Amino acid sequence: MKKTKYPLSWSKKDFSIKIFCSIPNIATGILIRAGQANFVIDPGDGILRDLNKELSVEQIKSISDVFVTHGHHDHVGGVWSLLTYLRVMNKKTPLTIYYPKGCIEIEHIYNAFLKVYQDSLPYQIKLKEIDGNSTLTSKKVKVKPFEVIHKEILNDGRGKRQVPALGYNFIYNKMKICYGGDTAFCETLVKSAKGADLAIIEAGHGDEESDDMHMSFKEAKSIGESAKEYFLVHVPE
Ligand SMILES: [Zn+2]
Ligand SMILES: [Zn+2]
Repeated sequence: MKKTKYPLSWSKKDFSIKIFCSIPNIATGILIRAGQANFVIDPGDGILRDLNKELSVEQIKSISDVFVTHGHHDHVGGVWSLLTYLRVMNKKTPLTIYYPKGCIEIEHIYNAFLKVYQDSLPYQIKLKEIDGNSTLTSKKVKVKPFEVIHKEILNDGRGKRQVPALGYNFIYNKMKICYGGDTAFCETLVKSAKGADLAIIEAGHGDEESDDMHMSFKEAKSIGESAKEYFLVHVPE
C-alpha cells in the first residue's frame, strides 16, 4: 500500500485547507483558512507542533472555531493541549468547539479542563453540540454538518457500538470543501461530496473489505471522484 505523504494541501483564492496528518489510531489534524478565519478540525495529537510550523502565535490565538467529527482519540487527542496552549499564550477572544450530539469525550475533556484552569482562563470556551440538522456561519464561512456512520469495537466481546459522528461541509465564496471524518459508506456523504470543490474522504480499510466502521479504497474513490478534486485520507500505514 502506498503511504500518503502528509501534509496534504489545497487552496483556491483565499480558501485553503491543510491536512497535517490523518492516520487511523494515531492522529488527525486539519487547518482551514478562509479570509480572516482560522479553523481547526479534529485536533489529534501533534496539533500544536503542526500549527506552530504553519502559523504565527498570534494567528494560532486567532483560531475561533474547532470542529470535531467524533470522540475517538486520533481525532481529539490534542484538544487538552490546544486549550492549555491558548491559555498560556493569553488568548482573549472566544473559542467555540462544535461536536456531535452525544460525544461525551469532548464534554469530559472540557469539564476536566475547567476544573483545573477556570480561575485563570483568559478566554471563553463555548461548547456547541450539533447534529445533521444544524447549520452555522462563522467568519463568513457557512458550515453544514451531516451525520455519518462510524462504529467502534467494544473490548469485552459485546460487538460494536455506533458512535456519534459527523462530517462537515465548509462553504466559502461559493466554494465547498467536504470532509467526511471517519465513516462507512453512507448516503449523506455521497450527497455532500458530489460536486464539492474538494472532498476529503477516508479509506480506513485501504485494500481490504469495508465494514460499518471504515471504507475501502474502492468505495472512497467512488465518492471522491464525484467531487472536482479529492484526497483519500486515514489510510492505515
Ligand atoms: Zn480515526
Ligand atoms: Zn474513529
